[in-house]
Amino acid sequence: MKFVTFSHLGRVKVGRLVEDDATIVDLSAVATGMLDLIERHAALGDKTRGFDDPALPRIALAEARLLAPIPRPARNVFCVGKNYREHAQEFSRSGFDASAGSGAAVPDLPIIFSKPPSSVSGPGDAIDSSLDSLDSVDYEAELTIVIGRRGRVGPGDDPWDFVFGYTLVNDVTSRELQKRHKQWLLGKGIDGFCPMGPAIVTRAALPDIGAARLTCHVNGELRQSAPVSDLIFDIPTLVKTIGRGITLEPGDLIATGTPAGVGIGFLPPRYLKRGDVVRIELAGIGVLENPVA
Ligand code: MG
Repeated sequence: MKFVTFSHLGRVKVGRLVEDDATIVDLSAVATGMLDLIERHAALGDKTRGFDDPALPRIALAEARLLAPIPRPARNVFCVGKNYREHAQEFSRSGFDASAGSGAAVPDLPIIFSKPPSSVSGPGDAIDSSLDSLDSVDYEAELTIVIGRRGRVGPGDDPWDFVFGYTLVNDVTSRELQKRHKQWLLGKGIDGFCPMGPAIVTRAALPDIGAARLTCHVNGELRQSAPVSDLIFDIPTLVKTIGRGITLEPGDLIATGTPAGVGIGFLPPRYLKRGDVVRIELAGIGVLENPVA
């Protein structure tokens, strides 16, 4: 199933996309919000009572506005740095990687940082480039894991059991802030620098996630393209790494890292500027498109 948070006639609701994503089944009668929906669905799967009720109201997608599937996460979005080999190398080459103390481009263990809930924005929302006073705004297309189960991941646990589904995130970054402050939160935590969406797709609906291809276009030009199977640290490894000591909660998000082709991979860097449009896509989840203001 494919779930969305949307605004319709001034109300924010949750729903399910059907009919080739042309129609939203309004689930506000059965779930109070996306976190409630995730908890219910994580327990019962597609048999969750009410989700398939033919009597539920239907709304044409064209009449609604999609919001971030989780517009205000309960806590920071977990993120993974340098998790595609070619991107790790381009980042290292660019001179912007203040974290590369050892000089090794490809990390031995996952690099984890986070973006605050206030950075989240939805499909179509403008990325305000003026909030980066150093004019170095860059894009990063990322497959993002949505957690469905509460708890720590023990040695006997299957990390997949914690995965509810997937969405997309643009891990927008001020490269100069990232470089000059020698950490990743400040340059990546700016308001609106975490566009998310358009939907959350359940794990069962995308069984072969490794074969799915993540792409990013800027103004129609293909910049990033890689299969999810190119991840250095795969989905179970990331869930296990974070959940070993931190209690995971339904609705937690893990942005899994970005492939090669970001703006600083070019010489000179190709930063985003006002009027640009960034389009991130993964078949099965959909398109996340955001203009730059
Ligand atoms: Mg990233």
